[in-house]
Amino acid sequence: MFLKQKHRVALISVDGDPAAEIGQEEAGGQNVYVRQVGETLAAQGWQVDMFTRRSDPEQPMIVEHQPHCRTIRLVAGPAEFMSRDVLFDYLPEFVEQFLAFQTQEGVEYSLVHTHYWLSSWVGMRLKRQMPSLVQVHTYHSLGAVKYRTLGDLPPIGAKRLMVEKDCLETVDSVVATSPQEREHMRSLVSTQGRIDMIPCGTDISRFGQVTRAEARQQLGFAPEDKIVLYVGRFDPRKGIETLVRAVGESDLRHLPNLKLVIGGGSRPGKSDGLERDRIEGIVQALGLTAITQFPGRLGDTNLHLYYAAADVCVVPSHYEPFGLVPIEAMASHTPVVASNVGGLQYTVVPEVTGLLVPPKDAEAFARAIARILKNPAWRDKLGHAGRQRVELGFSWDSVASRLGQLYLQLIASVAAEVVPIEMEEDAQEVAA
Ligand code: UDP
Repeated sequence: MFLKQKHRVALISVDGDPAAEIGQEEAGGQNVYVRQVGETLAAQGWQVDMFTRRSDPEQPMIVEHQPHCRTIRLVAGPAEFMSRDVLFDYLPEFVEQFLAFQTQEGVEYSLVHTHYWLSSWVGMRLKRQMPSLVQVHTYHSLGAVKYRTLGDLPPIGAKRLMVEKDCLETVDSVVATSPQEREHMRSLVSTQGRIDMIPCGTDISRFGQVTRAEARQQLGFAPEDKIVLYVGRFDPRKGIETLVRAVGESDLRHLPNLKLVIGGGSRPGKSDGLERDRIEGIVQALGLTAITQFPGRLGDTNLHLYYAAADVCVVPSHYEPFGLVPIEAMASHTPVVASNVGGLQYTVVPEVTGLLVPPKDAEAFARAIARILKNPAWRDKLGHAGRQRVELGFSWDSVASRLGQLYLQLIASVAAEVVPIEMEEDAQEVAA
């Protein structure tokens, strides 16, 4: 699909900067999603601006990624990193700055696609001031799911639940990224409101272009190594401990040439750095130091190589609404062992592209990992099927086209509904 006339759309991700370094605390799938969708929509003919909050005085206000696709950093609160939990108070300022930016540029957006509950609030406020504005929303994480496993609600919890419900019931469409997420929205948030199911995607030309042997050579692994890979943020909810225990407390640890690779960025003293320290402590206590590597944040130069080099990629999260890591691994011809939760149940097809096991069950993870490591021919078969699955359903091109079609449909129907102000006044005069 290529548009004849450029529509101007804003992707709003207050807390997740699309131009940020990925793989650290609070910079993960949401940032990747917004950036990739933005760039792909722009390549398909949309005019895309991605709005986020400025979190460092050194950051440029505007980053031009490619023609027709920019990140715009608005000033809302101090220009420093702030946890999502304290950002709500700065949202009115974000709304004002967004409107000021529109005026200053002399433009008006037809549609905002908001990301995470904080941005949904911004979108709903903008809609009050711009009657023909269409709002599409993606939650990325649902408070109602997250809080199920927590004893007490955090201070911002009640507000978040209220905003998420309001959002589902009032915006033009909420995009669920997996059937499981849609089900949670209906059972835990509201039975009202429109939901469209469009998954997340991955870059099929970035992943899967290098063989396992080439990738190992480039990274310095031996052909006979058995590589078990984790990629993601250091966050207790990601379940890295389960993976480490699966290796350290089972026969896997005695498998010759086993290598455990735990990839992801962290900052000393911050929550991701503390989680990394904790994981390193468990690795040490289980006597796995010699076979475990922490290569740090993986990026443009090496992420695709680690995925390709691995025998199996493990996603032991306690919950994932979607989870980009499994489809990146599958795009790289690598099978996935994942927790049997949320969107992982949608992306990973058990016995076809990988295996699903109960979350937090180290023994079950160990058994599933061992099955794949001990059977390289089956590993290759699973890897091949994974690649096919991603090519068919999860390329950014197909995801952005589906989003683009949804945007066009909603823009057309809202335009048909909105009565121009002059016509409304005429009608009132006639009535009087
Ligand atoms: N990621 C990365 N480098 C790292 C660790 C993670 O680029 O060192 C990326 C990973 O490739 C994926 C994203 O961060 O695209 C994580 O997304 P996911 O949906 O799996 O988890 P989230 O972080 O959103 O919880």
